[in-house]
Amino acid sequence: MHEFAVTKSILSIVLEKAQDVNAHKIMKVDILLGRLTGYIPECIQLQFKILSHNTIAAGANLVFHQPPAKLHCRKCNRDYTTDSLALTCPRCRTLEIDIQSGAELSVESMEIE
Ligand SMILES: [Zn+2]
Repeated sequence: MHEFAVTKSILSIVLEKAQDVNAHKIMKVDILLGRLTGYIPECIQLQFKILSHNTIAAGANLVFHQPPAKLHCRKCNRDYTTDSLALTCPRCRTLEIDIQSGAELSVESMEIE
């Protein structure tokens, strides 16, 4: 249930943005969710449904964008991407890697009325 805190912050971000433009309802929220965060979209969606009850974000459709994580192997000096949480270099199996992207979590855009 560690999605709870993060969902709460997503909700407060979208409510604040909606308030800035005097929106009446939030229809859709695009969220960039790096694969390495380990957050499960379905859990965030569920928590959002509960937390947004009685707000203008109630019933909003959350759309998650999960680009592959970008990694760099220090041993064979190679860039690679992964869709899973298995971070080891596919060539030399080392864990001596640098994470270049994949840990992002942000509200990209939203549709309001
Ligand atoms: Zn390697």
